[in-house]
Amino acid sequence: SPGLYIVATPIGNLGDITLRAVETLQRVTAVACEDTRVTGKLLHHLGIKQRLIRYDDHAGEADRERLLALMEAEPVALVSDAGTPLISDPGYRLVRIARERGIAVTSLPGANAAVVAMTLSGLPNDRFLFAGFLPNKAKAREDTLSALANVPATLVFYETAPRLDASLRAIEEKLPGREVAVARELTKKFEECRSGSPAELAEHYAAHPPKGEIVLLIAPAGEQQIGEVDVDALLKSALATAKAS
Ligand code: SAM
Repeated sequence: SPGLYIVATPIGNLGDITLRAVETLQRVTAVACEDTRVTGKLLHHLGIKQRLIRYDDHAGEADRERLLALMEAEPVALVSDAGTPLISDPGYRLVRIARERGIAVTSLPGANAAVVAMTLSGLPNDRFLFAGFLPNKAKAREDTLSALANVPATLVFYETAPRLDASLRAIEEKLPGREVAVARELTKKFEECRSGSPAELAEHYAAHPPKGEIVLLIAPAGEQQIGEVDVDALLKSALATAKAS
């Protein structure tokens, strides 16, 4: 049936496409995407031929109206280059207007780098705050970190390899003593998740310049660091209890 189908695609490992995504990408009459080359490759891999329409949030009014008119009549998918559309990716305006106009909007869940990093990092996951990309400029970056300093939740940021060092140093400056995790190349061959203090991680990545895509996580404010000392103490008390009984 007509409407907008928001379809999550893999963040690196093609095996992460869902059955429902494949079925929907086959069934729709057009796929709106950020980059027709990137989406063309994915569809080729899946053996799907589709009409591709380039769309991002900078698209002109006329382009957006054409797309909205199409989804009033036919099923149209929206994908981004990787992962879940709208999450630090285009689509917000389109979905907002589609909903206002009563166009049916469905979202098909799938890969999302923030969630994969969150589950992998070992940081508290009962509450997390996804904060997108840190600002490019030093002052704005520090202001953002200061504003989030007392949030009692794990902080999750998208990051790029060239900017990792500056971000780690800003965290060291503004949120000293916090445990940080760097999750890199998730779902891919060289997947890595490394934790430590901002200074330790900065030192490591100065010696081994990071490649690829990165999610940066910061332990919650006021959270006791989960170190080996705690684990040891727990084990000792468990053993003591076991001996006593
Ligand atoms: N919509 C995507 C999602 O659902 O995760 C995010 C798109 S955003 C433009 C791109 C950023 O996501 C990258 O700079 C990186 O921070 C993160 N990212 C995407 N794929 C990743 C991966 N395989 N490993 C680590 N981070 C990734």
